[in-house]
Amino acid sequence: MALLEIKDLHASVADKPILKGINLTIKPGEVHAIMGPNGSGKSTLSNVLAGNEAYVKTGGQVLFDGVDIDELAAHERACAGMFLAFQYPVEIAGISNMYFLKAAVNAVRKYQGKEQLDAMDFLDLVEEKKKVVKIRDDLLERAVNSGFSGGEKKRNEIFQMAMLEPRLGILDETDSGLDIDALRIVSDGVNALRSEERGFLVITHYQRLLDYIVPDHVHVLVHGQIVKSGGKDLALELEDEGYASWLGEEGA
Ligand code: ADP
Ligand code: MG
Ligand code: MG
Repeated sequence: MALLEIKDLHASVADKPILKGINLTIKPGEVHAIMGPNGSGKSTLSNVLAGNEAYVKTGGQVLFDGVDIDELAAHERACAGMFLAFQYPVEIAGISNMYFLKAAVNAVRKYQGKEQLDAMDFLDLVEEKKKVVKIRDDLLERAVNSGFSGGEKKRNEIFQMAMLEPRLGILDETDSGLDIDALRIVSDGVNALRSEERGFLVITHYQRLLDYIVPDHVHVLVHGQIVKSGGKDLALELEDEGYASWLGEEGA
């Protein structure tokens, strides 16, 4: 069964139609990249998938693991195994990262009918995941994202993803604002989390992230529609030629 099946998806933001008939199927184990110019609807797509209420689905259907996402509230989608790494991660004052992670992991486990982790089991899980995504201890002890640099926030986000073990990871421009070392850390983390059961949707404006996270499929999103799909080489073509041929006279 497909992990994610998007059929003729239409969506609006502030009553303005943005997504105009998206079709996309992600099978377990696949990494799909969506590329496109600014304002084409990339973040709108990730927000609709995550259930952000400011983004209104106006048509079509999205099945996650065979379940219509209209039936799942935002937190239920996360518990069912959808993980969204935001373009701009939020800071949560007064809540330590470790406390936050334990609550999140146990909320997911509860939803999935699994036993709650006690303090010792949780620490074991943290140690196991630190081998996959390296993260400094002080970042785990501090308030969530508080005073973290751009790179530290992204690293923290990938660590959260490792902890939550999602079925589908959605990365929305997780490369923006990253220097080359941080980019490597994020990509290495994602690559370490790739598996036969897990899918990824990697959304990016730039080709360079896809030098490190090599996708199985690439889709070009322009003006709310997928105008071309192909293999990993499509990303290289776009780097050479840009989006101009799809944008027409009005440009980006
Ligand atoms: P991308 O991620 O590809 O740069 P977005 O999905 O962020 O594109 O934006 C698509 C369009 O929707 C843009 O025209 C943008 O101005 C508009 N948009 C996005 N979010 C909002 C919002 N919260 N309110 C009003 N318009 C929005
Ligand atoms: Mg943008
Ligand atoms: Mg965006």
